[in-house]
Amino acid sequence: MTAATDVGRAPGRRSRQAPPVRVIVLRRSDFRESSRIVTCVSREHGRLTGLAKGAHRPDSPFLGRVDFLNELMATFSPDRGGLRLLERAELVCERRSLREPLRFLAASHLAQLCDFAMLDDRPEPDVFDLLLGGLNLLERCPAAAVQHVVLGLELRLLAALGALPDLHHCVVCDSPLGDHGFRVDETPGLVCRTHAPPPYYAISPAVLHLLRTLHDSSGRQWPGLPFTIPARLAAPLPALWLAAATEQRPRLRAMLFARD
Ligand SMILES: [Zn+2]
Repeated sequence: MTAATDVGRAPGRRSRQAPPVRVIVLRRSDFRESSRIVTCVSREHGRLTGLAKGAHRPDSPFLGRVDFLNELMATFSPDRGGLRLLERAELVCERRSLREPLRFLAASHLAQLCDFAMLDDRPEPDVFDLLLGGLNLLERCPAAAVQHVVLGLELRLLAALGALPDLHHCVVCDSPLGDHGFRVDETPGLVCRTHAPPPYYAISPAVLHLLRTLHDSSGRQWPGLPFTIPARLAAPLPALWLAAATEQRPRLRAMLFARD
């Protein structure tokens, strides 16, 4: 965390500014020689994209501010149908702890998931809060807990999208699963043995227990939970659910869970 740093305004725009909005920077791409297109998310407006004019110039007030995962107070020009201008950016938080490779990978994966889940100019406050809270957790949790925290965040995101299966009951008959859940290809949900015709996949009780524990605990509790199995053993189930929910296979996820 850093103290708020005022960075002045982009040249040439002084009047009729909208009030600043708190955003997290998700993506940047170069635009012509000296400018950048910046994509951020906000609690109030969902995803916002704006042109940061002259952001590559050495004297730009945007320099070092509109970086990936930074939290800003950003002022955009009014929406007139085309690309907005990012007129002003005040740095709130630059999350230096996330530069460590495993944390960076985890945070990048979370940002990508939230990017999938958000639409332009449509508020998704639950997803924004998840991203903000998730980045805070990934900054501070012990390195050994990073993968478990990511699994917990994935379950929360799935729940926010309405795509998290019931972890305790059969999706067909609603009977309690106890320690033994099964999966079949036809549905992302969990089924009891009776409703698991071959070919079925038995889910290990330890995996079911881990996912339920993460789901039933608060995010703040995750780093301190007594995890008995590596996160990667439980990772394939949320991967299926996320793929179904986002219709894409998040590529950073495979890299994250390939690590020991
Ligand atoms: Zn059943």
